[in-house]
Amino acid sequence: MTAVRTVTAKRILTRQKGGFLTQGTYPYTHTLSWAAGCGFGSIYCGKYCYAANFPNWLYNKQEGEKWGDAVILKENAPDLLAAELAKAKNRSEMRIFMSSVTDPYQPLERKYRLTRRCLDVFAQYDDLDLLIIQTRSPLVTDDAERIAAIPYAWLSMTLETDLGDLPYGPSANHVRQRMSAIKSCAEAGINVQITVSPCLPYSPDFADVLANSGAKRVVVDTFVDGDGSQGERTANSPFAEEAAYDWRSDDPARTLYDALAARGMEVGWSADGFAGISPRKQVLL
Ligand code: SF4
Repeated sequence: MTAVRTVTAKRILTRQKGGFLTQGTYPYTHTLSWAAGCGFGSIYCGKYCYAANFPNWLYNKQEGEKWGDAVILKENAPDLLAAELAKAKNRSEMRIFMSSVTDPYQPLERKYRLTRRCLDVFAQYDDLDLLIIQTRSPLVTDDAERIAAIPYAWLSMTLETDLGDLPYGPSANHVRQRMSAIKSCAEAGINVQITVSPCLPYSPDFADVLANSGAKRVVVDTFVDGDGSQGERTANSPFAEEAAYDWRSDDPARTLYDALAARGMEVGWSADGFAGISPRKQVLL
């Protein structure tokens, strides 16, 4: 059971002045995270989650609050978003990543609906360049109609593997549910990207599974290129203690990348792949 502490925040859009999301060809300008902490922190991905070491969590948590056990909710996030978008002078250049340090469809969203209320704010504007909704949760399908109605929104679903029996990966049921969410969102007209991030061991069918998923593009990433410290954060994580394979090797991820490219998929690598969605103006030219 995740403990919830609510706070009134002063800002919700965080300007990106450097870092992972600015390193690609088409950098993000802002991130949006309505929580510090993540309700998925106690499942497998919490064992290697880099956000557990970020200031957003470390400087805001209170004594005794542990990653995955407690989440700090910015309960006024939708109101702040409405105010910040209303006064933004350069909305057409805004490329927003929701969320970089939490999951916008973690279980708490069922109760608090902060992501849904933020989507309702975005829906009032048609002039932003990009909104990425980055999640690993099939709960996103609850909002498929809302997302489909926002012309600059993309769903970006994490799918690290198609195997459901890895001791340090998603369950078979969760893999199935995510695949189903990807398909149904693509069928609802949503632009869908899959992030194989970080790439875990996978079956020989994975490239075909991804190529036939309905997604428009795939990003492949590794622990070493993606953790922001060339693997050091991962090496110090509980995951590294448990994973009995060479997680530092990028060979499997490179093989998957090549297999996707050979199938005609748009595929990007690590930071360049994340920040690789073309500006809308460019697409329209
Ligand atoms: S869902 Fe994302 S932010 Fe949340 S614990 Fe897992 S990796 Fe971290």
